[in-house]
Parts: sequence; structure tokens; C-alpha cells
Amino acid sequence: TTATLYRSPRATPSVSFELYPPRTPRGRETIGRTIGALASQIPDYFSITYGASGSTRTTSRELICRVLDDTPVTPLAHLTCVGASAEDLSEYVATLLEAGVRDFLALRGDPPAGEPDWQPHPQGLTRASELVHLLRQTAREHLGDEGDEVSISVATYPGGAYADDGTPMIARDDVAALLEKQAAGADFAITQLFYDARHYAELVRQARAAGVHIPIVPGVLPLTDPNRLRRMVELTGVPVPPDLLDHLDSAADKDEAYQRGLAASVRLVHEVVETGAPGIHFYTFNSSRAVLDLLRESGLR
Ligand code: FAD
Repeated sequence: TTATLYRSPRATPSVSFELYPPRTPRGRETIGRTIGALASQIPDYFSITYGASGSTRTTSRELICRVLDDTPVTPLAHLTCVGASAEDLSEYVATLLEAGVRDFLALRGDPPAGEPDWQPHPQGLTRASELVHLLRQTAREHLGDEGDEVSISVATYPGGAYADDGTPMIARDDVAALLEKQAAGADFAITQLFYDARHYAELVRQARAAGVHIPIVPGVLPLTDPNRLRRMVELTGVPVPPDLLDHLDSAADKDEAYQRGLAASVRLVHEVVETGAPGIHFYTFNSSRAVLDLLRESGLR
């Protein structure tokens, strides 16, 4: 399982890719090719997202099974707990264990936007750390001692804000949440996207100072499309550095913007690897081109 990936010091950083269940007919048409192109790089795992409140349960499971059936790559199943009962989550986890899944990313998820009357499930979980517990327990119930080998990863947040003196700021609650998830049994963490390697380095520094010893794998988004970066601000709340957007927007055309973004991404990858990152998790948005270019240009593959 992926839990063993980081147990001893690595000679080379791990490489992994996030995929989401396709939402459109075109997305469903191209996902097979994307998986094939990315699998050819022999990644350490594919992580597969899961809509908050289980909205993509069927399509997420289909994609996981596709990775299991069509590739030699380990699928890592995202799972959110907000809005579901503990019993329902446990049953779903059991179906994934039966399908052969041994790797999970335990998340809280977010309450649906624009639904002011939304209520958490009365028999539900409110924090990712509780989902880590539930996963461990369910794995033990279904697999016995082998359940302890199931790998559980969690999310963590380098943020994007700066103090007045220009140093990166990390939210104290996020470090506390990571410590709690480690205490619950998490094996490693994957970060939200960020644009400045110093944010990753500062998160790791503060997490270590607080007692977090599990590996923290940086999540990297290829910076090749300024419009995507703008959309990501809404999705993640992480601000894009204005200099980066200006640099991409001032390119003569899309192609030049792509090349500029690729160069910035290569720098980011090199910088986080230099700080000692144990691997890179790529946010692919189900598109292989930028990720393949980035792997080649950064020397990771
Ligand atoms: P938690 O760890 O539960 O933390 C939530 C908040 O609770 C913390 O920020 C903190 O404010 C507070 N908190 C928790 N514990 C403590 C504590 N001990 N002390 C103080 N405060 C505390 N969402 C999806 O819907 N589907 C996905 O597939 C998905 N994949 C993701 C993958 C990655 C790598 C990342 C980084 C995020 C992903 N998300 C996904 C988004 C995620 O669901 C949201 O960011 C959500 O708001 C928080 O989830 P969490 O697991 O970090 O929550």
C-alpha cells in the first residue's frame, strides 16, 4: 500500500496523479486515454476524488475499478464524511475493500454551498480525524490484522497568505487538525495546491515543531493556464500571486502562456524537492499534457 512508500528515505521523489470522475460525455470519452498516458509514467498511485456528501459515489467507484482493472497502478480513494452517517460510510468503505482498495484519503468535505438549511447528519462525523478512526475500524472488521496495513492519507494546507514582513503564514487550526489526524492513525498527508515553495516549507516546519512526523507530500497544479488558476481561487481560497498571473496574462498567445507557466511549474517542483519533499502529487484535472511536460522538464521521469 502507499503507507509503505515513505517508510524509508526515498532515492527519488514519489510521483502520483489526482483524477476526478468525468462529468461530461466528452470527459467520459477522453478519460481512458488520459489514464493510459499517465499510467505509462509508472506513477506510485492515482488518487480519485469523491464529491462532498457522496454525490459522485458511483462514478468515483467506477473510476477506481477502472484503474484497478486497466492499469498496474494503485488507486487511492478519496472519501469525505460530511453529510453521511457513520454506518453508511462504513458500508461504502466495505464495498471498496471488497473491490480490492487498500488506500484511502480521509477528508471532511464541505457542506453544500448555497443551502442555508443544510444540516449535518445526526449520526454523522464532523472531522476528517473521525473518518480516519472509522476507516481503521472498518478495515480491521473486514480484513482482520491485515486491516492495519490499509493506508490512510489526509489533507493539509500550506495556505497562501503572507505576514507583513513577507513570510508565509500557516493557519494554526490546520496544523492542529493535521496533528489530530496523525493521532487518529493517518500514514501521510497530501497538501492543497500552493504557488510559493516557501509556503510548503513553512507548513512542514510548523507541523514538525508541533509534533507531526508523518510525510507531507506537496500537491502541485501545473501553472500553464491562467484561467484555471483564477477558477482555483474560488475552489480553494488560495490566492494566486499577482506577479504570476501578470506574467501568464501578458504572454503573446496561449502557447507562450503555457510555456511560461510550465517554466514556473518546473521551478516550483525543483524548489519543493530541494526542501526535502518525499514526492509530488500532481493535480491533473484529467489532462495529461501539462503533467507529462512537467515530469519531463523537471527531470522527475
Ligand atoms: P478536517 O481535517 O476535518 O479540518 C477541517 C477544519 O476543522 C480545519 O481547517 C480546522 O479549522 C478545523 N479543525 C479540525 N481539527 C481541529 C483541531 N484539532 N483543532 C482546531 N481546529 C481543527 N473535497 C471533496 O469534497 N472531495 C475530494 O475528493 C477532496 N479531495 C481533496 C484532496 C486534497 C489533497 C485536499 C487538500 C482537499 C480535498 N478536498 C476534497 C477538500 C476538503 O474536503 C476541504 O478542504 C474541507 O474543507 C476540509 O477537509 P479536511 O479533511 O482538511 O477537514
